[in-house]
Amino acid sequence: MTQSRVPSPLNRKRLRVVTGMAVPSDGQKCKLSLTVFLPERKGKPLELNFQVNVVNLARHSIIEFMTNHTPLRPAPDSTPATLSRRPAQDGPSHAIVIGAGMGGLASAMRLGAKGYRVTVIDRLDSPGGRGSAIHQGGHRFDLGPTIVTVPQGLRDLWATCGRDFDRDVTLTAMEPFYKILFEDGSTFTACQDDAAMQAEIARLSPGDVAGYNRFLKDSEARYWFGYEDLGRRSMHRLLDLIKVLPTFGMMRADRSVYAHAALRVKDERLRFALSFHPLFIGGDPFNVTSMYILVSHLEKAFGVHYAQGGVSAIAKAMVKVIEAQGGTVLADTEVDEITVAQGRASGVKLLDGQKIAADLVVSNADAGHTYDRLMRNTPRKRWTPPRLKRSRWSMGLYVWYFGTKGTRDLWQDVGHHSIVVGPRYREHIKDIFIRGRLADDMSLYVHRPSVTDPSVAPSGDDTFYVLSPVPHLGHDNGVDWATEAEPYRAKMLAMLESRLLPGLSKHVTESLVFTPETFRDRYLSPMGSGFSIEPRILQSAWFRPHNVSEELPGLYLAGAGTHPGAGLPGVIGSAEVLGTLVPDAPRPRGADLPLRMAAE
Ligand SMILES: Cc1cc2nc3c(=O)[nH]c(=O)nc-3n(C[C@H](O)[C@H](O)[C@H](O)COP(=O)(O)OP(=O)(O)OC[C@H]3O[C@@H](n4cnc5c(N)ncnc54)[C@H](O)[C@@H]3O)c2cc1C
Repeated sequence: MTQSRVPSPLNRKRLRVVTGMAVPSDGQKCKLSLTVFLPERKGKPLELNFQVNVVNLARHSIIEFMTNHTPLRPAPDSTPATLSRRPAQDGPSHAIVIGAGMGGLASAMRLGAKGYRVTVIDRLDSPGGRGSAIHQGGHRFDLGPTIVTVPQGLRDLWATCGRDFDRDVTLTAMEPFYKILFEDGSTFTACQDDAAMQAEIARLSPGDVAGYNRFLKDSEARYWFGYEDLGRRSMHRLLDLIKVLPTFGMMRADRSVYAHAALRVKDERLRFALSFHPLFIGGDPFNVTSMYILVSHLEKAFGVHYAQGGVSAIAKAMVKVIEAQGGTVLADTEVDEITVAQGRASGVKLLDGQKIAADLVVSNADAGHTYDRLMRNTPRKRWTPPRLKRSRWSMGLYVWYFGTKGTRDLWQDVGHHSIVVGPRYREHIKDIFIRGRLADDMSLYVHRPSVTDPSVAPSGDDTFYVLSPVPHLGHDNGVDWATEAEPYRAKMLAMLESRLLPGLSKHVTESLVFTPETFRDRYLSPMGSGFSIEPRILQSAWFRPHNVSEELPGLYLAGAGTHPGAGLPGVIGSAEVLGTLVPDAPRPRGADLPLRMAAE
């Protein structure tokens, strides 16, 4: 229930308490019956029965109503300690979501819409996980996702909560989408306009136009099967997998994305342009299943968008919805363990030892971290430490965030998204994913949001980030980032100066670097990987950690490490799947009662 839906009669002046008013003391739980007369009910009395928890009555004169209500915000002194005193059986059904990543926040919204009182807990100081932002020297550095595809997923999510996404967030459609700059000086500009795209293909390789059109048809077929069907339902039953195996076979899901592109077009540059997308969800294009060519259709059908204010603006809008539903988002709070009682998830224990009880727990922490760390004291059958160790993890990311002074009129042909391709493709990918070696060459994704969103940088300046895929931390003889980080940045700068942003070093005023070690320490990502478990065919759908835990009843998973996988559409989709698995709250929040009232 939200404050705005509290009927006006519950405005204190018009609420007449007739019987049963008790004045309990602090910390006490007691039953409270009220009979109220509301003008709207034309003298008919309304009986209200509550179980109440008294919170610091002397200071705040606040009674927290627990049976039918959820606090809109924590009480002024409502700490996790207060929460820990609540047995899960009291009050409305309580759900805890570990992690305020985009998948966690989307899950919280869905649970709120199902009537749960939701508490989201994240160790960071701001919401969004990889989609959060850091402010430095007048610049806003959006740390992770920059491209919003399939906005419909977000619109559906908002609609489930009775809200309108477009009232809360402004999306700007990008046209063109991005520019790819090849080593030989040629370029390829991807866009939504079909005629322009055909012309671009013909400009690079006239003989590949027909093959490109076939590729698009293949992509659409995989979209309907892989995204609209498999991606939107739970794949936790083996039978579900068995049923779809013939379609996997027919669609040659065993083939890689690159192999499929190579089947349709001959030009190596076009093969790159049609196959690099899995890198944005942590997949090796030479090994990841060709089901992922569906991304080309996603881009063409739904466009490529930018959220004004960055993806962190979407995260903040999600928090507002959660709070309006009566949920709470706790920042700077780390979960140490998922607690178990009578063979079910019963809540969480925080790093400081406090416990919070819940009827169900959703982990948006990485699936590896969930099973390896948060369930370390609970026996696991499938996701044991050796199994997690031998899983294939997505690559790591080296990201350099920087601000430049007085450059808004410079580099006129550098748009919002650029991809600067290095000299090698297949061998470079092998270095990253298979050999685990930090290569001398690199391919870069360059983000320049200041051309679309002036709020991201001081006037006249630019904000950038440059991303290079690198090995994760789990390879033998892994990269020593303490010594490699700065030389790698210098190499990146040299490549940018020579290929995209001449004179760059003279303008850089702010600088911040994330290595895989930052991902390990900030997001608690196993192996410091950028996108959790790699989406290979034998690590997809049923093979991935399930959305309803196969290890512990009452535990659910959402986010990149579970089904359907990484990327914003994937993690928002994981919350949609979660919504199909979790029943409506057995004890829903009250529909027509106040959230918190002063004791009369
Ligand atoms: C650099 C980069 C660029 C990307 N670009 C794009 C893009 O353009 N488009 C796109 O669609 N996708 C992109 N992605 C992928 C996308 O951002 C991610 O797949 C997605 O945001 C992951 O969301 P998630 O729900 O799995 O949660 P995460 O973002 O992984 O968040 C999980 C949260 O849980 C918290 N947490 C973990 N353990 C605990 C604990 N024990 N206690 C409390 N809190 C805990 C973490 O601090 C974190 O805040 C990009 C990713 C990166 C890194």
